Amino acid sequence: MGRRSLGLTDIEDRIQKACAEAGRDRSDVSLLAVSKVQPNERVEAVLADGHRVFGENKVQEAAGKWPDFKDRFDGVELHLIGPLQSNKTRQAMELFDAIHTVDRPKLAKAIARIAQETGRCPELFVQVNTGEEPQKAGVPPSEADGFVAECRALDLPIKGLMCIPPATETPSLHFALLRKIAERNGLSGLSMGMSSDFEQAVAFGATHIRVGSAIFGDRVYA
Ligand SMILES: *Cc1c(COP(=O)(O)O)cnc(C)c1O
Repeated sequence: MGRRSLGLTDIEDRIQKACAEAGRDRSDVSLLAVSKVQPNERVEAVLADGHRVFGENKVQEAAGKWPDFKDRFDGVELHLIGPLQSNKTRQAMELFDAIHTVDRPKLAKAIARIAQETGRCPELFVQVNTGEEPQKAGVPPSEADGFVAECRALDLPIKGLMCIPPATETPSLHFALLRKIAERNGLSGLSMGMSSDFEQAVAFGATHIRVGSAIFGDRVYA
């Protein structure tokens, strides 16, 4: 569809190259364009280029702009990649097609209750705090198997795992750890890799990469 914006074309080339080097199919990697904080014009330009898969990290912010974009562009797929407060669970489940940040029993139970009631549930990822950083969300690696089992006991459709490696460490170690935990739990989805490291993430098996600034430009916080 039309000419693609520079950022998107460049990222697409790099994903294709990374897939080729890893012997993977391009179609096995979903590119989430992370549009948080970006001005609407930039998001609209990427939509006009034909891209349809987006990531947002706040329910409130996404609720403010995506219903309108969804009205105007067909086939939008929206992923929540930021922390979810239990009291926003229902709103998040209405707005998002996938939630990457399931990280505690209370939230899992809230999702299960609403899914039962509505008959509908987004695709889910369990967030793992691979670096065991106190300020970061996610279950510690040692509790991941137990939490995945708990989610499955609630009949939740767990698609895979998600991580955000510590900024100061080699991301590949964290990608490898996430993959290992996913494999032993029989999970096929791996949500990992951002602007600075998505090629490495693809090499380690990422199925969902979350790329913001490399597509849209730097985020400008007011
Ligand atoms: C903002 C964000 C991204 C995208 O970050 P960039 O460095 O701009 O690519 C990816 N994942 C999560 C969880 C984020 O919050």
